[in-house]
Amino acid sequence: MLIVQKFGGTSVGDLERIQNVANRVSETRKAGNEVVVVVSAMSGETNKLVAYAEHFSSNPQKTELDMLLSSGERVTASLLAIALNEMGCKAVSMTGRKAGIITDNLHTKARIEEINPIAMRNALNEGQIVVVAGFQGVSAEGNVTTLGRGGSDLSAVAIAGALQADLCEIYTDVSGIFTTDPRIEPKAKKLNRISYDEMLELASLGAKVLQNRSVELAKKLNVNLVTRTSFSHEEGTLITKEENIMEKPLVSGIALDKNQARVSLRGVKDRPGIASEIFNKLANNNVNIDMIIQNVGHDGSTNIDFTVPKSDLNDAKNVVHAFLDSCDIKEESYDEDICKVSIVGVGMKSHTGVAAKAFSTMAAENINIHMISTSEIKVSMVIAEKYAELAVRSLHNAYRLDK
Ligand code: ADP
Ligand code: ASP
Ligand code: MG
Repeated sequence: MLIVQKFGGTSVGDLERIQNVANRVSETRKAGNEVVVVVSAMSGETNKLVAYAEHFSSNPQKTELDMLLSSGERVTASLLAIALNEMGCKAVSMTGRKAGIITDNLHTKARIEEINPIAMRNALNEGQIVVVAGFQGVSAEGNVTTLGRGGSDLSAVAIAGALQADLCEIYTDVSGIFTTDPRIEPKAKKLNRISYDEMLELASLGAKVLQNRSVELAKKLNVNLVTRTSFSHEEGTLITKEENIMEKPLVSGIALDKNQARVSLRGVKDRPGIASEIFNKLANNNVNIDMIIQNVGHDGSTNIDFTVPKSDLNDAKNVVHAFLDSCDIKEESYDEDICKVSIVGVGMKSHTGVAAKAFSTMAAENINIHMISTSEIKVSMVIAEKYAELAVRSLHNAYRLDK
């Protein structure tokens, strides 16, 4: 078998843990498999590098950020290759560029355009273990790019797709996908299987256990994806097609996203085309918009509220300021003390009352809901950040996910 194994930040968090990873990888290799390993930076390392950049500038050049941030993964990749060779397992480390990961030039959240796996393939043919620095690629201009926070998951899935691997294992610090973050609700239950669509919703809505784009790609390429822990041999969670899942619970999980900010625009000129102008500008500046509320206008003006990832807030402010200058918007305000809690389940498609139960659960806890959005398989609510954990636990209990 050809197996891609990705080890996250905690799994390579110190030298002892890198040795533990080397032992695991060598077991897989000795069992007769071809192995490509994708590693993250040591836990905390990427945040530390971001803080270094912010020491000098509140708005560092994104090309320089990528140059800086990509270094964390190179450290762990080379250390792991050294450890493996020392154990008698032939191994070679590769940067994203060497591994043939070609991206667009959207620095700090680049998209993979193609993978040219020839160097990886050649090394595998020579019997080597390939250790790839995750989270990075190279643009057509030859600049190093990074794939967005949590992007080593995407590196792993994309490589598994390009090499037509039999299995892609994501090793992390929890034993699989749970009904909610087990660090918030210790009663959360591990799922044996979850569908790509539900996992994609959970990941997009804040469950950082898998980066959302990695799930999207796994679904598209039909990659066999398993999430498990690097600290024991416990079985993990298989992420698979919906038809491979027997039980379809009404609600599969609760997600929490504390990384959102709310933008409020007051006195927006109420004329045809204004929303299109604002949101096109935001899109052109690569600001991800999530929920949008527009109030009924009167006296020729209206209010628009929307949420963006905190990391996009600076870019959003720049766009808004241009509209303030042209007097199309009177006032702006921003709120970073919000969070989004969401309920996800494919079973919702055929049941009513799921959303109503979520709202009454918030009411019972006296939590005010600021914004709501729903789809076929999710209900999301924006609330004050201070209620985040309480909301998650109450919803987990209300839908009896611990049972
Ligand atoms: P890594 O560094 O290995 O990539 P992450 O920190 O990115 O790991 O993701 C693992 C974390 O995701 C867990 O420690 C857990 O707190 C969090 N998490 C959030 N939601 C879930 C969930 N539904 N199931 C499991 N873990 C979750
Ligand atoms: N090191 C990067 C991050 O912290 C990528 C990853 O860990 O997946 O976001
Ligand atoms: Mg991660």
